[in-house]
Amino acid sequence: MECQAVFWIPYVVTAFVAVHLVDVFMRNGFSGVLKALAKFIICLPGVDRLVRAFTKREVDGFMSNTFEKNTQKAADVVTIPQKGIAIDELRQELVALKAGDGTQVEDGRLFAYVYTTEGPRMELQKEAFSMFTNMTLSDANSEHAGIVNAYVEAFMHDNALNPMVFPSLRKFENEVVSMTANMLNGDSKVVGSITSGGTESILMAMKTHRDRARSLKPKITQPNVIAPASIHPAFEKAAHYFNMTMKHVPVNKQTLICDVAEYEKKIDSNTILLLASAPSYPQAILDPVEEISRVAERHNLPLHVDACFGGFMLPWVEKLGVKIPKWDFRLPGVTSISADLHKYGFATKGASAVCYRNSSIRKHQFFAFSGWSGGLFVSPTMAGTRPGGHLAGAWAALRAMGQDGFIDMARQLMDTANKMKDGINRIQGLQVLGKPLMSAFAFASNDKDVSIFGVADVMEKKGWKLEVQRNPDSVHCTILPGHIKSASQWLTDLKEAVDYIRAHGTDTKQGNSAIYGMLSVVPSDGIIDNFLVDLFDEIYKT
Ligand SMILES: *Cc1c(COP(=O)(O)O)cnc(C)c1O
Repeated sequence: MECQAVFWIPYVVTAFVAVHLVDVFMRNGFSGVLKALAKFIICLPGVDRLVRAFTKREVDGFMSNTFEKNTQKAADVVTIPQKGIAIDELRQELVALKAGDGTQVEDGRLFAYVYTTEGPRMELQKEAFSMFTNMTLSDANSEHAGIVNAYVEAFMHDNALNPMVFPSLRKFENEVVSMTANMLNGDSKVVGSITSGGTESILMAMKTHRDRARSLKPKITQPNVIAPASIHPAFEKAAHYFNMTMKHVPVNKQTLICDVAEYEKKIDSNTILLLASAPSYPQAILDPVEEISRVAERHNLPLHVDACFGGFMLPWVEKLGVKIPKWDFRLPGVTSISADLHKYGFATKGASAVCYRNSSIRKHQFFAFSGWSGGLFVSPTMAGTRPGGHLAGAWAALRAMGQDGFIDMARQLMDTANKMKDGINRIQGLQVLGKPLMSAFAFASNDKDVSIFGVADVMEKKGWKLEVQRNPDSVHCTILPGHIKSASQWLTDLKEAVDYIRAHGTDTKQGNSAIYGMLSVVPSDGIIDNFLVDLFDEIYKT
């Protein structure tokens, strides 16, 4: 009997399919029937695997035809060289790489991607560019800035939209990702993309994990994401753009770290991703990533670590012998990491890396649309046109610095940060917040007679630009090469500013004190958000 029941199934299925096809034929004609049949066949057991094998063979064939003979081919695994590559050698490489890409633009052989001409106008653009790149390292190492600028200028009009057109750009991108992945202790399976900055890296990570969750857990329609309250607003932006919900875990007022038990309690059946910072931007505090990684493993959820700020600093600080809890790919729960090249990677503005533990995760980042009348369209990140200059600049920056250069720079910045933190803690009424581990920190007032915003206003009159922030009221300091020289004067002025406020009180009608005083009496953040949007509406007018 059982046998007989099974025997009928194919007939019933065929009948259903036949009825469906007739219906499709009535509505869409014969081509509709072909499409429907193709869809049906792909669903058959085994066919999916066949199609994948076929696609892989086509991709492999395409890759070897297009790239194998190419000298600009990226090496498989690349690490940041131990010693920085000599400037002369980097210049020679630049000439060779540019030559390898050919003269298709100059010869009028290319019909897309590059909209410029060489000549005096172009030279002026390059000059203006190098005046405004404002390399943070230029004081400490002008040769570094020079070679990075030379790379950016050489490739600034080249477009990484199509990786087949400029082989050098593909090499730069793949090798910068590989160097970053290695620095973050990832294995050879770690892949990634270079984006325009931390925000784009974060947008991509959020979209990737959302789309991956859609395919793994299709029942979730309102995905949420858990993060310590100190997480960067770029995640808020991503959640807003991509229709996800952020669930914030408050941070302790003293340690500025969230309670991991409380963090875990926020997880529900709609949670698709966990987040942590290494470190957070406002007070430069490292989140308890080791514990959050264990939570991620227990709940079988991915964990993105936002190392936009510390990605290119914490690894070198650790090499200096500072004890830093693990936060990178050494932790098994960590699935992706964002790290900004245009911060402590000392590359030009417009470069950040987003890395994934393996390519099956990254696939959810890519967007393909084959139906366009402009040809087959596929794009790795948010942007369409992607400036080649910053890829070249990032590649040159990492190779010119070398690990030794990064470690040396980290040592100088940490010495400066420690000197400033000690100095602040010695000024009565001021206090560094929490336990920042790298070259950044925040400080606040611990004395009701000393308004931190008042101190900031006095400092601004003395010519310093301070970064004031709320929750808690404090001043943020990212330590940069310029501060190696200015730290002593800054501390002297800070002490004077505190003395001045103690003696004269705070002028609450001006500057930060006025703005933040006003904000403290506004009953809702929504009103402040509206105010900020109106403000920008005015600011961005000629
Ligand atoms: C800077 C920063 C970002 C955003 O990066 P952008 O390059 O400004 O877009 C995100 N997270 C942290 C921790 C950062 O420091």
